Amino acid sequence: MIVIIGNGISGVTTARYIRKRCDEEILIISAESKFFFSRTALMYVYMGHMKFEHTQPYEPHFWEKNRIQLKQAKVEKVDTSSKKLHLDSGETISYTSLVLATGSKPNKFGWKGQDLQRVGGLYSKQDLEYVEKCSAGLKTAVIVGGGLIGIELAEMFLSRNIDVHFLVRESHFWDNVLPKRDAQMIMRHMDKHHGLNMHYSEELEEIVDNGNGEACAVITKSGERIECQFVGLTAGVSPNINFLKGAEVETDRGILVNRFMETNVKDVYAVGDCAQFKEPLPERRPIEQVWYTGKFMGETVAKTITGERTEYNPGHWFNSAKFFDVEYQTYGMVYNHLKDGQSEFVFEDKKNEVLLHFVFETDTMKFIGINNFGIRLRHQLFNEWLLQGATMETVLKNLKAANFDPEFYNKYEEAVIAQFNKEFNTNIVLEKSKWWQTLIAK
Ligand SMILES: Cc1cc2nc3c(=O)[nH]c(=O)nc-3n(C[C@H](O)[C@H](O)[C@H](O)COP(=O)(O)OP(=O)(O)OC[C@H]3O[C@@H](n4cnc5c(N)ncnc54)[C@H](O)[C@@H]3O)c2cc1C
Repeated sequence: MIVIIGNGISGVTTARYIRKRCDEEILIISAESKFFFSRTALMYVYMGHMKFEHTQPYEPHFWEKNRIQLKQAKVEKVDTSSKKLHLDSGETISYTSLVLATGSKPNKFGWKGQDLQRVGGLYSKQDLEYVEKCSAGLKTAVIVGGGLIGIELAEMFLSRNIDVHFLVRESHFWDNVLPKRDAQMIMRHMDKHHGLNMHYSEELEEIVDNGNGEACAVITKSGERIECQFVGLTAGVSPNINFLKGAEVETDRGILVNRFMETNVKDVYAVGDCAQFKEPLPERRPIEQVWYTGKFMGETVAKTITGERTEYNPGHWFNSAKFFDVEYQTYGMVYNHLKDGQSEFVFEDKKNEVLLHFVFETDTMKFIGINNFGIRLRHQLFNEWLLQGATMETVLKNLKAANFDPEFYNKYEEAVIAQFNKEFNTNIVLEKSKWWQTLIAK
């Protein structure tokens, strides 16, 4: 029997693709919930846009129909020499192949008061339920850590008129990822939100106990005391691997794998947030903690397990998120600082909160990557351009084709090109023919 620990996107994709390719028995064990749900949709449940049931992409009968067994339990110990798993229920389960897809857990850095009541993260279904429980009568929350999950938690609280104090260690928002100009745009956008109090270059020193084991305030490193009734810890996540203590599976920050998602132990694999590449792909991080990479890893390992040993090859990097009302996408590699031999071009319409940040090779003008805010651009085209090694000229003159929403975007194309021509002394002209419609229709 093939056993998968974790029923997130990585574990479930693994199971689905194994089932497409073979008839072997499959069991998914997960502690959090019986059925797979979309973690990225948790915030919308809190905000009342959907019910929790709506976050489940498959109906309960899907699993039976596809002969994928589900078990809600926690795996406490993995014994790879006997190929057995020990569950919290006392049960023991044998496997022929084992896939570790155990995801992440929110970081805690040993802050005083971090384990008090009315302190929580936003990762699991249980975290969401706890935030919901603490929200009754909640007036002010403090959020610690400025990244994508922190901003989601802030948006959730503001949707219920709960004031938020957001402690961000860096001087700019999401500073380890976004170039300064992009971060400043997001910071200006956040300043517009009534009830959101940003504290940049500020860290948590201590969470104060109200005498009943509950958080009632935080004290910051600079000595400020902020009264609150909930503290959200969103200072990043790290691989969920504690249950592997004492096992033979090699770990570092995550479970170490090669490009085939194989660990050091035969028939044991790891995928998704919990996996760490011994040799990361060029220009990529060793641990990739996003939805679509988990999916790709699941598809890859399913092939390997079913006899077609396959390397992980997710194509060019892309990602998307939302900062309150501003949509963000990135294609290719845009770092927070330019690398040697790179140039950048930024077009910004401050009034409409639109920003396009292009990075390219200085010598050849080969396109390297883009961050775009307030406008949606087509993944298909950017991936194609990155594969072809397209130049800035190709990208800019075809901006109309790249635009997801041409009517809305029309007014920027000419302006973007005009600014680029002026700054870089080029003569690029916007392509007006509709050649691209056939490509998009594919
Ligand atoms: C609030 C939030 C919003 C996000 N938004 C986005 C987004 O917009 N876009 C994006 O790309 N990514 C987003 N992410 C990240 C994305 O959700 C993760 O990268 C992805 O869910 C990881 O999937 P996974 O299958 O690897 O792990 P997980 O989804 O974490 O699943 C792992 C499962 O394994 C279970 N498990 C762990 N250990 C054991 C054990 N010992 N025994 C039994 N079960 C165990 C866990 O309980 C969990 O259910 C978001 C994450 C969060 C928390």
